[in-house]
This record gives sequence, C-alpha cells and structure tokens, in this order.
Amino acid sequence: MPELPEVETVRLFLNEVLLGRRVERVLHLDPRMVKNGRLSPDEISCRLPGHVIKSLKRRGKFLFLEWDTREYLLLHLGMSGRLLWLPEDVPWAIHTHFVVDFGGYHLRLIDPRRFGRIGWVEKGDKLVPHLGVEPLSRKLTAHELRRRLKTRIAPIKSLLLNQSIVAGLGNIYVDESLFRAKIRPDRPGGSLTEEETKRLVRAIHAVLKQAIEHRGTSFSDYVDALGQPGKNQDYLKIYGRNLSGCPVCAKPIVIQVIQGRTAHFCEHCQH
Ligand SMILES: [Zn+2]
Repeated sequence: MPELPEVETVRLFLNEVLLGRRVERVLHLDPRMVKNGRLSPDEISCRLPGHVIKSLKRRGKFLFLEWDTREYLLLHLGMSGRLLWLPEDVPWAIHTHFVVDFGGYHLRLIDPRRFGRIGWVEKGDKLVPHLGVEPLSRKLTAHELRRRLKTRIAPIKSLLLNQSIVAGLGNIYVDESLFRAKIRPDRPGGSLTEEETKRLVRAIHAVLKQAIEHRGTSFSDYVDALGQPGKNQDYLKIYGRNLSGCPVCAKPIVIQVIQGRTAHFCEHCQH
C-alpha cells in the first residue's frame, strides 16, 4: 500500500511536469472511484477542461492537485493505486479508471483493487479535516505526540496506524520506526516515557526521509509516476526481513498480529 514516502515521491515528480499544464479533457472510466467531495464525476469532467494546475500538495497519504480556481482534485491511491504520467499513445492498462488528458500526455489512475478514491475540495474547505499531525512538519514534536498518546491504552503499533493521530504512516514505516526507536509494538501508547517518545519522533523522521530519498518501497504494487519501482525495500531493517534475523543482534524477528495488523519486531532489541 502506498504510504507517505510513496505518495511524496509521486508528488515530487508530478510537481515537475504538471505545473502550468492545461487540461483538455477528463475521462471517468469507472465513475465509482469518485467517492469524496462535492462534485459528481460528470461535474468534474465539465469543470476541469481549460484549467491549469497551480500546485501539488500532500497531506498524509492524500494528494491534492490545486487548480487556478483554488479548488482541489483529491486523489488517494488506496491499497493498489498507481498514478502514471504517460504519453497519450501508450495503450491503456487494464484497471485504468480515471484519465486527465493534458494534450500529448495523460495522468492515469490505475487501481486493480479499487480502494483508491477521487474527490473534489471547494475553495476555502479544509483539505482533509480529520487527519492527524503531519509527520514531516515541525508540528510532530515529542511533546505533541506524547499529548496525543498519553491517555491511550491501545498498542502503539495500532495508534501510529491511526491516521487521525499521525497522518501518512502505514504498516511498513510503523514497524521500521518502532524498531529504530527500540520500542515494542504491543506497548500501550500511554506507557511511553518522554525519552522513548523523543526517540520515536526522531525515528519516524529518519525512516520517512530515508524512504523518500530511495523513492519509496516497492514490495508488490507501488511504482512511481513513470512506472519505476522504488528502492527502499533494500534498506528496510525489520519489515519483511524475517528470514535474515535482526540486523542488530541477529536473533529471529518476531511476527505477531496486533489488533488485526502484522507487526515485525525484535524481542531482544525492542522493549
Ligand atoms: Zn535485535
């Protein structure tokens, strides 16, 4: 599933190629992908032609194309979504659900499992009101994270996956962050000390920045906007490394289901 670093990698590339481009037409091959916002698929198709992209923003795992009208098209890649930038003569892949035609080039949303979504945000609306703190912003401090966790008894793994606490983290980067911070994923969120919370914030920053530098993690579906896989899977320390053992102490990596999600951790190094 694309998490924050994968969405940011797509955003950084599209920011290079999309700014100032004018839309010729919009095609909804599966109108059911429009799940958020105030406009229907037909209204989006009528509204966008002739307009120009002013900026690309990201909040958590959501991507926003800002138009010269100061309205936003929201895109979420769900479990298996790919957002590809392709010359218009490239044959359409199966599961292509949405196309923005910029004249010569297409932005295409391809999503076999259809958990992705498209939406519309009007001028002045908050982009995603329910989302938690943005982990790469200055707002994610140890003090702020501790404030959000201190009354919680749920496992820290589940709390970090909760998008209304911290936005953008998924299974891979939560496991990696907890390993770096030396914290067991089944610890109650409220039990983390001040020192542990500081370590965790530093770990989240480091894990996400490293993943963006390596253009995301590709285990199955994720590719960037040019269809290229990321390289961060070669740099993960704990997630999916069950065969090689803990990179610090070499003991076997534990795989445990915590509130329905698989966690990878080292019982010797994480406390
Ligand atoms: Zn270990």
